[in-house]
Amino acid sequence: VSYLDNAATTPVRREVLEAMTPYLTSHYGNPSSHHTIGEQAAHALADARNRVATVLGMRATDVIFTSGATEANNLAIKGVAIAAQQRRGARHVVTTPIEHESVLASIDYLTRIHGFEATLVPVDTTGLVDPDAVAAAIRDDTAIVSVGYANNEIGTVQDVTGLVAAVAGRVPLHLDAVQAAGWLPLRGLGVDALSIAGHKIGAPKGIGVLGIRSRIPLEPVLHGGGQERERRSGTENVAGAVGLARALELADAERLDAAARVAALRDDLIAGVLERVPIARLTGHPEHRLPGTASFTFAGVNGETVLLELERRGLVTSSGSACAAGSDEASHVLLALGLEPDEARTAVRVTLGHSAVGSVAPIVDAIEAAVAAVGSGV
Ligand code: PLP
Repeated sequence: VSYLDNAATTPVRREVLEAMTPYLTSHYGNPSSHHTIGEQAAHALADARNRVATVLGMRATDVIFTSGATEANNLAIKGVAIAAQQRRGARHVVTTPIEHESVLASIDYLTRIHGFEATLVPVDTTGLVDPDAVAAAIRDDTAIVSVGYANNEIGTVQDVTGLVAAVAGRVPLHLDAVQAAGWLPLRGLGVDALSIAGHKIGAPKGIGVLGIRSRIPLEPVLHGGGQERERRSGTENVAGAVGLARALELADAERLDAAARVAALRDDLIAGVLERVPIARLTGHPEHRLPGTASFTFAGVNGETVLLELERRGLVTSSGSACAAGSDEASHVLLALGLEPDEARTAVRVTLGHSAVGSVAPIVDAIEAAVAAVGSGV
């Protein structure tokens, strides 16, 4: 079976598992304990923090380990917004309609419970947000701007340089960099905060990072023992942090090679599908897109049924986001691009992994056959 759902999750890399194993077995201490076993764990955690900070181009004190990107996004958005509300009466947030559920639901929470207003700056038909429109949405009482670096369903990559210039330090700019990690630069972007999930880059599920400049006031979301410099309570996932640090370093070192190699495969795949399947339409931006992401709609053909046909042919793909899989709801991302709900329900997303090599011809063949099988009612 070919696994072509790398935007949903990736297998843990051998090097990552090896780096983690001591912290799951012999070095099992609690980093807050004052004996040698605890200090060993605290040392490993500090080392992981330094490594992550280096890859992100931030300071170690800016790195907050979380349970994943959902928590990192919740902490960035709720934590910055509520702190800004307390300090300067902020009551407005800015984002886009194509964000991950963890961003949109955090913002929904702020509007329902804390009296915030939200501006969702529209995207164009390729999923790009106009940095000037983002800048124009910022008000005196805006707490945070949160934008996804690269979209998980359609792979569109935002103009982060333009966004940084347009926001111009007026309010904190948070990037959900989950899908960008391993493919796009993370250092030197000039953003104030970014979220990463370990499991998208070869570390395990259940570990993530919020990198956030420590000068930005942040109200915790999880309260308790005061770990992570009072910003995220809970005994630290030491092995997870060690694994995430290793995965980020590997992804960073391999990034340029992987991005070039996989983007060439993606281009072959897109060209092949568009040529062989006349009803296929590419979703997302034709050029500004993630190297591993090929996303399509197949007019009039049920996407979920195509996925089953593909799996019968040995290819594991997805309709878009893993969270929405299996539901009949049309994707909020595709609707925001202007697709009709019926067309949005025909979506199929193929996401290649970092180590992808060889030819995509078998994938194109399988997609052609699967769409034909569904289309003809087989
Ligand atoms: N943000 C984006 C863009 C994602 O693709 C995901 C993964 O599904 C998340 C956030 C949430 O990550 P996790 O489910 O690991 O918390």
